[in-house]
Amino acid sequence: MAPAAIDALVRELSRVGNASSLHAAGREARKVVEDGREAIALAAGAGANDVIFTSGGTEADNLAIKGLYWSRQKADPRRRRILATAVEHHAVLDPVQWLVESEGAEVYWIPVDSIARIDIEALRREVQRDPESIALITAMSANNEVGTLQPIAEVVSLAAEYGIPVHSDSVQLFGKLPFDFEASGLSCVTLSAHKIGGPVGVGVLLVKRGVDLVPVLHGGGQERDIRSGTLDAPAIASFAAAAETAVAHMHEEEIRLRELRNDLVSKVVKLIPDAIVNGDSESTGRLPGIAHFTFPGAEGNALLLLLDAQGVQCSTGSACSAGVPRPSHVLLAMGMNEDEARSSLRFSLGRTSSQADVDAVARVIVPVVERARLAAQ
Ligand code: PLP
Repeated sequence: MAPAAIDALVRELSRVGNASSLHAAGREARKVVEDGREAIALAAGAGANDVIFTSGGTEADNLAIKGLYWSRQKADPRRRRILATAVEHHAVLDPVQWLVESEGAEVYWIPVDSIARIDIEALRREVQRDPESIALITAMSANNEVGTLQPIAEVVSLAAEYGIPVHSDSVQLFGKLPFDFEASGLSCVTLSAHKIGGPVGVGVLLVKRGVDLVPVLHGGGQERDIRSGTLDAPAIASFAAAAETAVAHMHEEEIRLRELRNDLVSKVVKLIPDAIVNGDSESTGRLPGIAHFTFPGAEGNALLLLLDAQGVQCSTGSACSAGVPRPSHVLLAMGMNEDEARSSLRFSLGRTSSQADVDAVARVIVPVVERARLAAQ
């Protein structure tokens, strides 16, 4: 966590008071929450009234997808279709799939190209086919595995022609690249604190004025009745401190991470000439801190564990189902076969990453890939 976020969390943890109570301690907690709401709104180009606090990105995604679907269905039962990109995080994929299995929704998975960018023409055809039947479109701003940025402005302008609400999971983009909710035209946007140096377990759904959501959680009526539950004032204060810090340093951090990432990519490709770099080859077409590779002939999880033993922690993006690793749906949607997808690895660089970290990867990558390749034979 960012030091300012730790300070805010520790300071607020020692306070008593429920932000919904009318007594003095409650009013103080309410002030912490409202100050946090304003700071996060400012960092995201939103109004304070647009901010709905949740327990994280997963809950915010569920609220957006289910809330929009139910409210649009209530207004017009013909609206059963959800258009979602094929490369969404599971926090979006799974609620969409749940609505299909349990609530009679239909889904169109918007295809992507080999760098994970959505096919906007395929989306246009699908929208124009029967716009009246569409409940919502959901398209992430930046992909969490390969870092590809999506053409969200084009999605929004297409959807606006037909009055279709668009949700975007911006968990990976917020605090890393410029983002302006007001200017985006999006109906709902998901943010999560722990991707920007805040604590785990707190997130936000930004909801544009006039957008109606059916709540997922019912109870005390907090957050304008959209999300019940006692507000976590310390986590909110900490999220706000993290957001302020991230946005204040965003530009210099973007340049620093992009340089480090590009250095990592060029070192790895030089050392392992048959390594494939995934995602947009334009450095500006993806998040600054993600480097994603395929190492043909090596198994991703073997690479991960061998690197871990050398103090390098990275990720494969594969999900485990009944103990069997399944290749990442993102890589399969990009057109990789299962073997290629299983041989892939993501390195994420963040606030604490340094040149020494990149050099450490370069020092160990050759023997690690050799060993993983031998193990796979
Ligand atoms: N969406 C994206 C793109 C993510 O990367 C993540 C977390 O990895 C989430 C949603 C889930 O957020 P949280 O961990 O706050 O529930």
